Amino acid sequence: TEGLRFDSVSKEYGHGKRTMQALDDVTITVPDGSFTTLLGPSGCGKSTLLRMAAGLEQPTAGTVSVGGESPAALARSGRLGVSFQDASLLPWRSVERNVALPLERRRDKSHTAKRIAELLDLVGLEQFAGARPYELSGGMQQRVSIARALAADPDLLLLDEPFGALDEFTRLRLNLELQRIWEGKRFTTLLVTHSITEAVILSTQIVVLSPRPGRIAETIDVDLPWP
Ligand code: ADP
Ligand code: ADP
Repeated sequence: TEGLRFDSVSKEYGHGKRTMQALDDVTITVPDGSFTTLLGPSGCGKSTLLRMAAGLEQPTAGTVSVGGESPAALARSGRLGVSFQDASLLPWRSVERNVALPLERRRDKSHTAKRIAELLDLVGLEQFAGARPYELSGGMQQRVSIARALAADPDLLLLDEPFGALDEFTRLRLNLELQRIWEGKRFTTLLVTHSITEAVILSTQIVVLSPRPGRIAETIDVDLPWP
């Protein structure tokens, strides 16, 4: 497949005289198996790009595709994983039943329990399977949200400031955890952040958006010469 592609994408919000251009002729390729980060100041159009990749919003002009398919088709087929800043867990469900959500549409349930146990182990929450979200810290809730995003073995993982609400210590620890998880599976990932540190730790490619809304300043291949 050909990864996630934004081709000459423009987006205008509003009507009549009150329109604003959030994206102006943006072209980005997120290669298969890459960890690509969208980096830029607030208001430069990062979340708009991510919502388009999730099929939640349409461009005004241009196209968005994932392996040649529309994002909406990918989402419908359950091969899209999404985690946003507010972990958006269902408060009345236990941790394991939140993680199970993407698996519930599957007809074959035989491996579900094993899969959930693996995912909770992956994010270090195996002791909290039966807990409710409100019993967990913010960092733990984000880990549940990431486990849920990974549950269906997505072709594409979209992360919008998943650690934005956390203190620097927790954030750095979760960055390193996410890096370890990604290195195990290499699922195609698009992360939105305004943290340069986060981008440098995690990415194989960094797309820097310009403070002038909706334009790409630079695309950087991260290939640090570490042993
Ligand atoms: P970022 O994620 O980089 O902070 P956004 O994609 O959220 O940027 O927003 C880009 C621009 O589009 C901003 O000026 C924002 O105010 C505007 N915008 C975003 N979403 C909407 C919306 N639903 N309606 C109107 N304007 C919006
Ligand atoms: P199930 O799929 O097993 O019904 P749900 O998580 O969908 O599980 O619902 C579990 C319970 O939570 C149900 O009794 C439902 O009525 C209740 N519920 C559904 N939506 C909400 C909500 N927004 N807030 C609180 N409880 C809800």
